[in-house]
Amino acid sequence: MSVMDIEKKIKDLTAELNHYNYQYYVLADSLISDYDFDLKLKELEALERQYPEFADPNSPTQRVGGDITSKFKTEKHRWPMLSLGNTYSQEELFDFDQRIRKIIGDQFEYVCELKFDGLSISLTYENGLLKKAVTRGDGTQGDVVTNNIKTIRSIPIRLKEGDYPSQFEIRGEIFMHKSAFLRLNKEREENAEQTYANPRNFASGTIKLQDSAEVAKRPLDCFLYFLYCDNRTNLFHDHWNSLEHVKSWGFHVCEHTKKCNLLADVFEFIDYWDTERHNLGYEIDGIVIKVNDYAQQEDLGFTAKNPRWAISYKFKAERVETTLNTISYQVGRTGAVTPVANLQPVLLAGTTVKRASLHNANEIARLDLHQGDTVYVEKGGEIIPKIIGVNLEKRLPDTTAFIYPNSCPECGTTLIRQEGEAVHYCPNETGCPPQIVGKMQHFIGRKMMDIEGMGDETVETFFKKGLLHNIVDIYGLKDHQEALQQLDRFGQKSIDNMLAGIEKSKEKPFEKVLFSLGIRHVGETIAKKLAQHFKNIDALAQASTEEIEGVQDIGRRIAESVKEYLDNPIHQQQIISLRNYGLKLEIEEREIILASENLSGKTFLISGVFADYSREQLAELIESNGGKMLSSISAKLNYLVAGDKMGPSKLAKAEKLGIPMINEQDLLDLIHSK
Ligand code: AMP
Ligand code: ZN
Repeated sequence: MSVMDIEKKIKDLTAELNHYNYQYYVLADSLISDYDFDLKLKELEALERQYPEFADPNSPTQRVGGDITSKFKTEKHRWPMLSLGNTYSQEELFDFDQRIRKIIGDQFEYVCELKFDGLSISLTYENGLLKKAVTRGDGTQGDVVTNNIKTIRSIPIRLKEGDYPSQFEIRGEIFMHKSAFLRLNKEREENAEQTYANPRNFASGTIKLQDSAEVAKRPLDCFLYFLYCDNRTNLFHDHWNSLEHVKSWGFHVCEHTKKCNLLADVFEFIDYWDTERHNLGYEIDGIVIKVNDYAQQEDLGFTAKNPRWAISYKFKAERVETTLNTISYQVGRTGAVTPVANLQPVLLAGTTVKRASLHNANEIARLDLHQGDTVYVEKGGEIIPKIIGVNLEKRLPDTTAFIYPNSCPECGTTLIRQEGEAVHYCPNETGCPPQIVGKMQHFIGRKMMDIEGMGDETVETFFKKGLLHNIVDIYGLKDHQEALQQLDRFGQKSIDNMLAGIEKSKEKPFEKVLFSLGIRHVGETIAKKLAQHFKNIDALAQASTEEIEGVQDIGRRIAESVKEYLDNPIHQQQIISLRNYGLKLEIEEREIILASENLSGKTFLISGVFADYSREQLAELIESNGGKMLSSISAKLNYLVAGDKMGPSKLAKAEKLGIPMINEQDLLDLIHSK
C-alpha cells in the first residue's frame, strides 16, 4: 500500500467504526457482529500504531481507555447544575402548576420525561468534538472526568455532520442497565470484591475510578436531557425541539418522552410509568416535568436552588409487610459472615421475596429486629429486597431482640471485627469448613486456575474424605491414585482427566495464581495490578503496606489485607509448596537484553504521537537501555518524551513540576551520548 492509501484506509476504518458505534450504542441497532467489529478495531489499532501521524486523536480505538490520571481536576460550571424541586404528591404538583399559570398564563406545554436514576454529567463540545465532561459536584463546580466518559459508547466523541453550534454544553444522566449491574455485581461477589447496592452507586463509583481502562470494562449508558449554548433561542424555541434535534447530532435521547397540555395528561403519564417502570431495562425513580418553551422558562426563572419551570415527581418505592421468621448467618470463603433474613414469602414488584440481606451487625441493631417481628420490605433500586423498618404495632409482647452471634456458626471460633469495618469475620481460616472448601472452590474456578475435570462438588467430597485440606493438596492428588480409585462414581477416566487438568493449570500466569489464592479484597483487576507492579511474589511479600497502597486504585484496606495474608506463616509455607509444584509466581517478561545502560537510573514517560517511532517502540528502546517507564507524571519523573498532540493537562502538569521535555531525537542523543 502507498502512504496515501494507508492514510485513506485509516480514515475509512475510523468513519466506519464510528458509524457502527453510533448505530449500536445510540440506536441499539447492530450492523455487524462483535467479532467483525473487533477485527476491524484491531486492524485500525495496528495501522495507527504504525502510522501515528494519520491517527485521529478521537479515534474509536481511544474508547478502550487507559490514559491514567492521578487525580481529577475540578472545574466551575458555566451554567450551575441546579437540582430540581421534587415532590411525591399530586397536590404539590397541582400547586406547581398553579404557580406557573400565575406567572405565564395558560398557554404553555409541559414535556414529561423519565427521571433516570444515575449521576448527572455536563458535556462540552467544541467544533463537534467532546472537549470535557464534568460531574455535577456541588452544583457550582465538579470533577473533570473526560477520559472516563470517553469510554461510554453512547456518548459521541465526535459528532455526526450537523448544524450544531461551534460550542455548546449538553447534560444528561449516566447510568448502568439492570442486567449489567446484576452480572457485574455477581462477578464481584465471586471475586470477594465489594458489591454495589444499586446500579446508581455502581455507575457513580465507576466514573470516579482513576483508571479509565477499568471504566471501559463496565458498561455504562447515558441519556441526554438539557442543551445549553449562547443564543440558544436562535437555534430552538423549545426544549422538545432541542431534544429531537440533538438526536441527529449523535446523542442518545430517551424515547419515552411526552408533550402534555393538561395537568391531567401529566398525571396519566406518571401513573403509566409508576407500574411500567418495572419493565424497563434501567432504573427510574420518578418523572421530570419541564415547561417546554425557552422564553417561558426564562420568564419563570429560578429560586435560589431550583428552576421554577421544572419539577420532579418521585415514585414511592413499593413496600410490603411480612413476617421475619429467622436470621441465618452465612460464612463465605473469606470468612466474612453475612446475616440473611428469612421472610414469610411475599409478592413485591412482581417477584416473590423470601430473603433479604441484612448486610452486617450494625444493620440488625439499627433496625432493632426482634423475633417474630413484622417488617416492611422494599426493593431498593427495584432489585435487591431490603428491610427498611419494623411495624412496632405488631411486635409480639414477650419477644426478644436478635443478638448477633459472638462465635462462628460453622466452627465455633470467636468472630472478629476489624476497626473501621462493619463486617464480622471468622478468623479460623484453616479450620472453618466453609472457608476451607470455599477457598479451594475459588482456586479451581473458571476465571481462576480453571482446573478441568474438577468441580465444586468434587472439592467438597475430597475434603470430607480427607484428601484435600488446602489448595496445595490439589497438586498432591496425583500421588493418591489408590484413594481416588476407591471413591464411588469416580472412574479411571475422570481421574486421569482431572489430573491432566491439574497439571495444565500450572501454566497459568502469575496474576491468575495471585487472584486464585483468594486474598480478601483482591479481585481479578487488583491481582493484575499487583502482579504487574511487583512482578513476583517475593517482591510483593517484602513490600510494606505503604508501598502496596502506592499502586494505583489500591486502597489501605486492600493493602492491609495483602500484607496480612502474606505475613501469615501458613500461607508462606503454602506458597513455597506451590512454587515447588511448578506454579508461576512471577510474571514472564520478555527477556530484556540490555543494549546499553546509558539510561540506567532515569525514569521516563511518553506522551503524544511521534514521527518515526510508535510509543511502544520508544518504550522498548528506553527499557533496553536501562531506563524505567513511569505511568504518570510526578516529581519522580526525570524526562517526559513529548510528541505531537500531547494532552494539555499532562503538559501543564509537567511544566508545573519543571520536568524536562525531550523529543525523540533528544532521546536518541541521550542513548548514544556515552
Ligand atoms: P434531584 O437530585 O432529586 O434534585 O433530581 C435532579 C436530578 O435528576 C438531576 O440533577 C439529574 O441528575 C436527574 N435527572 C434524571 N433524569 C432527568 C431528566 N429527564 N431531566 C432532568 N434531570 C434528570
Ligand atoms: Zn468459622
